Amino acid sequence: MKRALITGVTGQDGSYLAEFLLEKGYQVYGLRRRTSTPNYENCESFKDRIEWLSGDLNDLASLIEAVRVSQPDEVYNLAAQSYVAASWPQPLATGQMTALAVTNMLEAVRIAKPDAKFYQASSSEMFGKVVETPQKETTPFYPRSPYGVAKVYGHWITVNYRESFDMFACSGILFNHESPRRGVEFVTRKVTDAVARIKMGLQLELRMGNLDSLRDWGFAGDYVKAMWLMLQQETPDDYVIATGEMHSVRELLEVAFSHVGLDYRNYVVIDQAFVRPAEVDLLLGDCTKAKEKLGWKLEVGFQELIHMMVDEDLKRVKNRLRASRDDMYSLVNLG
Ligand code: NDP
Ligand code: GDP
Repeated sequence: MKRALITGVTGQDGSYLAEFLLEKGYQVYGLRRRTSTPNYENCESFKDRIEWLSGDLNDLASLIEAVRVSQPDEVYNLAAQSYVAASWPQPLATGQMTALAVTNMLEAVRIAKPDAKFYQASSSEMFGKVVETPQKETTPFYPRSPYGVAKVYGHWITVNYRESFDMFACSGILFNHESPRRGVEFVTRKVTDAVARIKMGLQLELRMGNLDSLRDWGFAGDYVKAMWLMLQQETPDDYVIATGEMHSVRELLEVAFSHVGLDYRNYVVIDQAFVRPAEVDLLLGDCTKAKEKLGWKLEVGFQELIHMMVDEDLKRVKNRLRASRDDMYSLVNLG
């Protein structure tokens, strides 16, 4: 039975990847940091089927111990401070968690299981103020946020460990990928959650930043398969994963609101608080290499993805409303 260690398993990608690997018959170890209130929301369906290990990206000893205990064939390093907008007010924490922590994880593997295959979660944010379109593996980086800068470090240190220590280390340069498990501050989920709340009468308006930026949005469930494929190759390499299609934030609003019969122009308010100090105007990926070498293919398109997210948020909001109505009835009956 193959063994995999996932950091960031409670996040969007980690939870999809864990499910995917369990289905493939892996023994999955999930690294989880201590929090005052543990959140297993993304992991509910498989919580009891994985081995939980306690550790923090910034604590090398805990990472070495996690690798020593799990003795993984494959390590997926997904944990990070992953939100671009938070990286300006917290540049140092972002540098520690998104940049230096990659070296911690690589060191843990080098020390405790050097023949394990290693996946690093690199990002299209490294292309930032893009110097060519579409962006591919050879496109130079020009990051535009402390997050993007940190990811460039994580990317190059992964390449460096591959070249210095002959480690099987790959870097996946993934373009934005979303799902009903996406954090609610990211633009897709912020919009689909608001659409559900507005539809159910719980919210009146939606405050947004730059509606003109363009992104290449795919489905996270498709993208975790690419991570796995990278580690099944004969030789380690870096790959761009993207849809090759670009849509604006405005288009996202249009698709999400019209799915429930609403016109976004009646609800969206531009708020400077959500406009960033430096913007990434457009991202568009060319994943020809991944298609040809990994045989990776996309299954969920943009419109289907946004509809799926709106439907899930509607379900969630309705369930919450039903639960609080039931609570009220029982209070009234008690009274
Ligand atoms: P999420 O924000 O959903 O998940 C981040 C995970 O990292 C969470 O499980 C979080 O744990 C964990 N984590 C954060 N800090 C620490 C720490 N100090 N020690 C241990 N664990 C920690 O991110 P995604 O799943 O969306 O993304 C996965 C990776 O891919 C990230 O590295 C991200 O930067 C990168 N990426 C994502 C893209 C996307 O579009 N989603 C695009 C390109 C790259 P907790 O639950 O405790 O907060
Ligand atoms: P990013 O590409 O990793 O920064 O992913 P986000 O989902 O956070 O943002 C995608 C794009 O949407 C960026 O260009 C943002 O500036 C833009 N955007 C516009 N309004 C908002 C908003 O209210 N919240 C967020 N998160 N992004 C917004």
